[in-house]
Amino acid sequence: MERYDIAIIGTGPAGISAAITATIRNKNIVLLGSRNFSEKIEKAHLIENYPGLPDISGEDMADAFRKHLEHLNIEITEEKVKAVYNMGEYFAIQGADAIYESSAVIISTGVNFGRLLPGEKELLGHGVSYCATCDAPLYKNKTAIVVGYYSEAGKEAEFLAEIADRVYYLPAYKNGNDKLKGENIDIISGIPKEVTQCDDGKVKLVAGENEYMADGIFILRDRISPEQLMQELKLDGNHIAVDLQMRTSVEGCFACGDIAGKPYQYIKAAGQGNVAALSAVEYLNS
Ligand SMILES: Cc1cc2nc3c(=O)[nH]c(=O)nc-3n(C[C@H](O)[C@H](O)[C@H](O)COP(=O)(O)OP(=O)(O)OC[C@H]3O[C@@H](n4cnc5c(N)ncnc54)[C@H](O)[C@@H]3O)c2cc1C
Repeated sequence: MERYDIAIIGTGPAGISAAITATIRNKNIVLLGSRNFSEKIEKAHLIENYPGLPDISGEDMADAFRKHLEHLNIEITEEKVKAVYNMGEYFAIQGADAIYESSAVIISTGVNFGRLLPGEKELLGHGVSYCATCDAPLYKNKTAIVVGYYSEAGKEAEFLAEIADRVYYLPAYKNGNDKLKGENIDIISGIPKEVTQCDDGKVKLVAGENEYMADGIFILRDRISPEQLMQELKLDGNHIAVDLQMRTSVEGCFACGDIAGKPYQYIKAAGQGNVAALSAVEYLNS
């Protein structure tokens, strides 16, 4: 497997800026995220405070980013990262279907990951999982619940259903009346409220007035919180704790942009992306 110098997770202004600087510094990078960049760029009506680009719309800013990436031949790998594992010498980055390896990692995933369900954190690894593709083999002849907070989560439920006996899929997003492929998939309903463990080791999901029991539960969100992404990261409230060089508590791992704290601003995110990339380069060269 190819080992990249730097894996950059997130394609908002922070991740794009980090990718540009790391590429200019001749590092072999993989940029993981969305080819549409960030919904926070897409949705911005008018941006008035980005130097050199007065009164620019989010759409035009996205165009400018796209041209800059093309100019440097930087490609975006469409990927939703599920977890980052610190292997000592390198990092293993778990995507939906693939694993990437890198010597350093920059996390620029933005904020807005919603609240964890009560019981979710405590049961992580003990009945709660965030990656159906990764943990599906554990569910042969078993039952599983999948709570999907975005429509593509249905695909992970379908994959799980190829292995598990029965899958209960709860689409927890607007118009989530999906029909999934698989006779052993039941669509369930209710607003997810809590996850608990039963005496027999099964897990119970409370959703609205309903309760569902299974061997395990997969909770699939569009964005995941830093503690879900990498368990040993030191946090500062909801953000990843960083120093002024964007170093995190894990050697070789850097964070930048909204995920590294307020204020939430494009230019701050882009500036921190630049610092994170330079710090990663220094780390690799030391
Ligand atoms: C409507 C709106 C208007 C705004 N207007 C302004 C303004 O005028 N001026 C200003 O300075 N700021 C403004 N902001 C704030 C600005 O958008 C944010 O501060 C900025 O986008 C943060 O950049 P970021 O790169 O840290 O994160 P984001 O832009 O949030 O990008 C994060 C990226 O990471 C990706 N990602 C997340 N999780 C994963 C994962 N697990 N795997 C792979 N990729 C992942 C996301 O898909 C996204 O591409 C506005 C925000 C909004 C919502």
